[in-house]
Amino acid sequence: MIRTPPNPQPIAFRHCREYTADLAPVLESLLEPLGGMAAFVKSGQTVILKPNLLSDRHPDQAITTHPALVQAVIRLVRRQGGIPRIADSPAAAVKLERVWEKTGMKALAETEQVDLINLEQAGSVRFDDAEGSFTIAKPILEADVLINIPKVKTHVFMTLTGAVKNLYGTIPGYQKTHLHKQHPDPFSFARLLARIHDRIPPAVTILDGIVGMEGNGPSGGTPRAWGFLAAGRDAFQLDAFLCALLKIPLGSVPYLFKDRLPSPSCSSVDAFDIRGDTPRLDPRPCQIPPSFLLRFIPRFLVKLVAPYFWLRPAIAASTCIRCLQCVAACPMQALTTADRQVPTLTPSRCIGCCCCHEVCPVKAISMERSPLLRMIRRKRNP
Ligand code: SF4
Ligand code: SF4
Repeated sequence: MIRTPPNPQPIAFRHCREYTADLAPVLESLLEPLGGMAAFVKSGQTVILKPNLLSDRHPDQAITTHPALVQAVIRLVRRQGGIPRIADSPAAAVKLERVWEKTGMKALAETEQVDLINLEQAGSVRFDDAEGSFTIAKPILEADVLINIPKVKTHVFMTLTGAVKNLYGTIPGYQKTHLHKQHPDPFSFARLLARIHDRIPPAVTILDGIVGMEGNGPSGGTPRAWGFLAAGRDAFQLDAFLCALLKIPLGSVPYLFKDRLPSPSCSSVDAFDIRGDTPRLDPRPCQIPPSFLLRFIPRFLVKLVAPYFWLRPAIAASTCIRCLQCVAACPMQALTTADRQVPTLTPSRCIGCCCCHEVCPVKAISMERSPLLRMIRRKRNP
């Protein structure tokens, strides 16, 4: 289907260096050029707040959306008379109650008296289209408003996780794992992300870029104090803005299809209608996962070159605590273990999706590149 390029949407931007006890005033000034929270929430509406709760990690690890930002969103939604609820489905192998506790969401929900929705047990609706099927958790579909609150991170499989990728957490539990299996290559997975987005386009996305992650994100990278919040109505344009801001090549993010963006010149910050502060970030380049080079291989060549360009997990036996979360998370059963020993990989099964890497609680998994990919990387970055 040929799409008409979307109209450019304003992007709100504010520098914000730390998670203060009350971020509501900063958030209010961020949203003001977009019409404030009143532009998105009306009195009596149910509002799902969708943070990134990838795994059971402390907010300081910069893997999950910080509770201070979610708290600020709750307060502004309430001021409009909306009824906020927090919902996300973390990586499939991780226990939800542990995630709520470690990420600070349980304490936040108690303080603010909001519901934490278990998307695994709330039922789902199946969508079928020409490219296959997927399901979305019912509470997301039944809410009046969806507010997307992602963490800004690099991502070994998609290069970037921001506004669009965060919506993958609306797919309940292990269905996410099955979808990875059905969409093993990044282009097909990127199409899936776009289809999910189109079923539940958020009213607004508020990016947690105060402290994000670079390197081998979304969980094995290094926290990076970017020092900003940004917001916008269009998830694709917001992610394209992130690419320009962090100097991530637009073409390395497979879901940023050209027809989702207003113009090809989106690769520069100046191309965006920015409202608020003029972005001034630490000029050190963002560490992009080495796998981003794979995203430049034309789709028709992917299968042909797969034996030479691959990305696979390598497990550091001395770090591994044998929790076996990686085994449970792998959609291809490429990781196996006997007697709870360190898991071993069957390389021919691995699709390089990084699900194992995402769930490992102790960073025992690194994603290794094939010799050819390492060589190209060295040439580009000696
Ligand atoms: S081993 Fe890891 S990267 Fe390979 S398919 Fe399984 S989860 Fe994905
Ligand atoms: S590699 Fe990580 S996730 Fe897998 S068993 Fe070891 S500690 Fe657990």
